[in-house]
Amino acid sequence: MRIYATASLWTVKKLMQKTKIEWCDYTWNPVVGCRRGCSYCYAKRLNDRFGMIPDFSVPTFFPERLNDKFPKKPSKIFVGSMTDICFWKREWMDEVLKVIRKQPQHTFMFLTKDGSIFLFVRRKHEKSLDKKTV
Ligand code: SF4
Repeated sequence: MRIYATASLWTVKKLMQKTKIEWCDYTWNPVVGCRRGCSYCYAKRLNDRFGMIPDFSVPTFFPERLNDKFPKKPSKIFVGSMTDICFWKREWMDEVLKVIRKQPQHTFMFLTKDGSIFLFVRRKHEKSLDKKTV
């Protein structure tokens, strides 16, 4: 008997990255790249070394990362250690928030140098958490 598999059966679900950052357990990077150009940028140095994207100054969305396998244990997950969310397209954030809403056991953390965007994301996420806890 022959067994055929569709492409989706072969899709390997990636487990997100365990991290040594002390204030979180995992990093999750559905977007890589940032236009700010800080001279001390660790993410850019990593990208230059490992070549995740050809030009770090062009933020790039990886929709396949939305299917990453989340840990079972409640965890603190840093979203976007290789980017600044203030340069994300609105639709990228919408897709990421859709995934986050399905994971109420975890705490998702965003870091940006743009304070106004931080408040927007936090409020949206808290709203989804409130719905789950009421
Ligand atoms: S804002 Fe963050 S990700 Fe962007 S260049 Fe500066 S240090 Fe790097």
